Amino acid sequence: MKYVVVSGGVISGIGKGVLASSTGLLFKTLGFRVTSIKIDPYMNIDAGTMSPLEHGECFVLNDGGEVDLDLGNYERYLNITLTRDHNITTGKIYSHVIEKERNGDYLGKTVQVVPHITNAIQDWVERVSRVPVDDSGLEPEICIVELGGTVGDIESAPFVEALRQFQFRVGPENFALIHVSLVPVIHGEQKTKPTQAAIKDLRSLGLTPDMIACRCQEELEAGTIEKIGMFCHVGPNQVIAVHDVNSTYHVPLLLKEQKMMKYLQKKLALENVQLPTEALSKGEQLLIKWRKLTSSHDKSFESVTIALVGKYTHLKDSYLSVIKSLEHASMKCHRRLKIEWVESTDLEEETKISNLSNYHKAWHYVCQADGILVPGGFGSRGIEGMVAAAKYARENDVPYLGICLGLQIAVIEFVRNVLGYEKSTSMEFDPETDEATASVVYMPDVDQIKLGGTMRLGIHETKFVADTDWSVLKKLYGGASSVYERHRHRYEVNPKLVGEIEAKGLKFIGKDETEQRMEMLELKGHKFLCGTQYHPEYISKVLDPSRPFVGLIASASGILEDILSSDDLDYKGEF
Ligand code: GLN
Repeated sequence: MKYVVVSGGVISGIGKGVLASSTGLLFKTLGFRVTSIKIDPYMNIDAGTMSPLEHGECFVLNDGGEVDLDLGNYERYLNITLTRDHNITTGKIYSHVIEKERNGDYLGKTVQVVPHITNAIQDWVERVSRVPVDDSGLEPEICIVELGGTVGDIESAPFVEALRQFQFRVGPENFALIHVSLVPVIHGEQKTKPTQAAIKDLRSLGLTPDMIACRCQEELEAGTIEKIGMFCHVGPNQVIAVHDVNSTYHVPLLLKEQKMMKYLQKKLALENVQLPTEALSKGEQLLIKWRKLTSSHDKSFESVTIALVGKYTHLKDSYLSVIKSLEHASMKCHRRLKIEWVESTDLEEETKISNLSNYHKAWHYVCQADGILVPGGFGSRGIEGMVAAAKYARENDVPYLGICLGLQIAVIEFVRNVLGYEKSTSMEFDPETDEATASVVYMPDVDQIKLGGTMRLGIHETKFVADTDWSVLKKLYGGASSVYERHRHRYEVNPKLVGEIEAKGLKFIGKDETEQRMEMLELKGHKFLCGTQYHPEYISKVLDPSRPFVGLIASASGILEDILSSDDLDYKGEF
């Protein structure tokens, strides 16, 4: 097992995740089996209880783990399936150590950060790195470990110390460190001082960078690279320039051009490793496909505009997987994606009174868009705006995709305006509402008091019901009889209203295994009005985009028929 640690300095949010995923992808193109671990130095046990407006989206795994959004990057780039244990947090490590202490496992010793916490971190990394994550079912060979936050923070100190020890535990030929830094451009000059300071910090903690990846708005000048090499005490081939590129999908190619792999292969004693020819050719194929995808995307000029009507639009990372899935689907449809961000409260009557210009702007975006997407969300703020957008989509034959909350919104809109139960809503927004006419109700089997990890989470089967051959969603899933997708919700469509709703044309074409839970909806006769109670964005892959998203983009681009008649919609229907 070879470990490649990716840490960061200067500031957070400079693209460590993309760099780490891209590095993993390059190892895969060489034929290696790659896994990844994300370390988040916060105290929370997981990302489940964190506000998306503070920390970006909460990513959900097959096993129901609610984890940091970077795990999504890894799954998408590396086409792997991770587990909740692949996301280490301070909270998880401490509770693990405290549990052992309560069990008396430390045999009377004083339990301390060093060595107990640092050992627990190292043991965890070693154990989890060996979990098979791809369809080979075999142990991975390369483990990318991304350390969140910036080196030097109080929070990350135990992890930095653990990694310092870890390089000796596994041996220098099995450990490489990439430190991601920032080179700001001030008055036209590329400044290296922040990087010098960051590397100094790193070295003072006992870690030596094998590579310094410099994030910069523009290409790094030769002089800058030389200067960083000299002041940071590394060779020029150890300085990698990662300037802003057209899209993050170009980053692996940018790293490859700079011969990053050559250096890492040498450092990790991988140069003479003989891989089976099958693995080698799989890797080569992956590189070819990746190149083809990025270059064909560069050459697509027609655009498609999607209005994303949500409630966390002030932090785009709240919808990271949705954005990525829209990108994947647009690449498949050869379209340039334009997302218009619409804060749903701006579509409401109240904004019309308090801020007329925002109200008109928001409606302008919705009316101009080729398609509308209402993503997941919690709480009552902004709901009326989403309902209004769904009504607009239904009445004007505009493609609409509702995800989780977005499906519930489409149902509320339909029950109010087509069935005529004007006051109908979700019990999430009004717990006192009349259950007989509520569109959305509590799921009986979830905990209603404790919030951490108690929703209906993770992968579940959704079966297409009988007589759904007309369904666009079913065709998009290659005619499969069932699909496996990830869930994260506490409420569901009121089973008591299903008959009435369906009689008016809004069909629940997919249900869970008990057939009591409505999982997919589609409006018969509409261009594309679909909803999923599950979150298809969590398993969308760069090279295998999520089908409901492909449907939205294709129908918004006017090419749905072409896509449906193409022969590459085969769906594995397994996990
Ligand atoms: N708040 C809704 C529920 O709990 C929708 C959840 C979501 O969109 N992820 O059912």
